[in-house]
Amino acid sequence: MQKFNLQHIKSDYSHLVELRQQIDPQSTIYPIPFQELREDITELSKSKTAAEEDISNVQLQLSALREYLHQFDAFQRLQNNFFKEIESYEDDFLAKSQHYLAVQHYTQEIRDDFTNGRYIIGGIYPSIQQLERHIKAFKQQIVAQQAEEEREQQQKEWANKIAETFRVSESSNVIEYVKNNFSPTPDFSPERIAQIKKGYHRHQKEVLMDMVIGRKNKLAQPLDRLKKALLSGHTKAINLALQNFKKVIAPVAISSHKNYKRVQLKLQDIEGTAEPLTTLHMAVNDDPPLHIKVEKSGKFNVKDVPLVFGENTIQLYNEDFLFLDNRRYVLHIHLEEKYPFIGLYDPLTQKAFEREEVSMIVRCTTCRNYMYDFSVEDNDDVCASPRCDGKKFNRHKDTAFWAE
Ligand SMILES: [Zn+2]
Repeated sequence: MQKFNLQHIKSDYSHLVELRQQIDPQSTIYPIPFQELREDITELSKSKTAAEEDISNVQLQLSALREYLHQFDAFQRLQNNFFKEIESYEDDFLAKSQHYLAVQHYTQEIRDDFTNGRYIIGGIYPSIQQLERHIKAFKQQIVAQQAEEEREQQQKEWANKIAETFRVSESSNVIEYVKNNFSPTPDFSPERIAQIKKGYHRHQKEVLMDMVIGRKNKLAQPLDRLKKALLSGHTKAINLALQNFKKVIAPVAISSHKNYKRVQLKLQDIEGTAEPLTTLHMAVNDDPPLHIKVEKSGKFNVKDVPLVFGENTIQLYNEDFLFLDNRRYVLHIHLEEKYPFIGLYDPLTQKAFEREEVSMIVRCTTCRNYMYDFSVEDNDDVCASPRCDGKKFNRHKDTAFWAE
């Protein structure tokens, strides 16, 4: 048994009660340990001496509960500050942030630990530190998000500025606008200016999109120069800006044929180079134009282009960049009028082939003889040449039909 300073313990205890009143006025923290401590102190005060163990037990309880009250205080401050700070954020945004959800989860869990008295066993600091980490991560996310929003806002402002500068929309009368704002010259008719402006807008959209995702676009500089030239209204400046623009674009060129070449095959491959990943328009004679995708390497290749006998004109241009100079590549090819089946006879009917009937003539892929399609039909779809069992035939649209 040992003498002890009851006054000292009592004063420590009343200090604890005050602290609890201050930090936890609603008694959120599990109250039992506080009651037990009070009972232990009442028990001690009945005698002048006590077991050493009992005294140190009371002292331990006092310091433990003081420590826990400070922890609860730290937790509450952390929680209150956080929820006050996020008041202005949209619920939608919060619901999508995993850090926010984690903060919510830990807050609830720690509060439950205090309410149910689990803190007595496990201690709280590790969970509070975890909570602090999530709050920090959430704040970093907010900062990143705000930077992104600012960037988007800037892009929008820029786009608006450009739109304002060229406030004539596609639907309104561009030509009227140009007539009022530019003095027409032999170089630049209102129609021509409208075409250049349209080309400008088309590429400007791509440049803006690339800017948003942070990708470099080689058209940014020439477009900017073209914009300034258009705004100045000086035809010389516009001409120079267009020349400057052309320098960064690969021109359309055909490599497979020389101009005015004479060929014998009806089907010709057209190959060449142009600006990568753009679309070319190719018109053969009066046929409706074909759309050709230029490969990433800058090459394009159109197989089996059917020619007419005599002169052929193949027009090729890059629609995306036609506004720069309106120049179309024109290839002239002469298909020599040579029908390889002329002078031959159908093996079944012995009828001479006539060039006007070319669409009715087929050529056996096995023996390479020509015959009328009805002769093959009459022969159970088998080649009509003696001793040939060929069952596959080329028609005049196939290159092999014309090959010698
Ligand atoms: Zn045959």
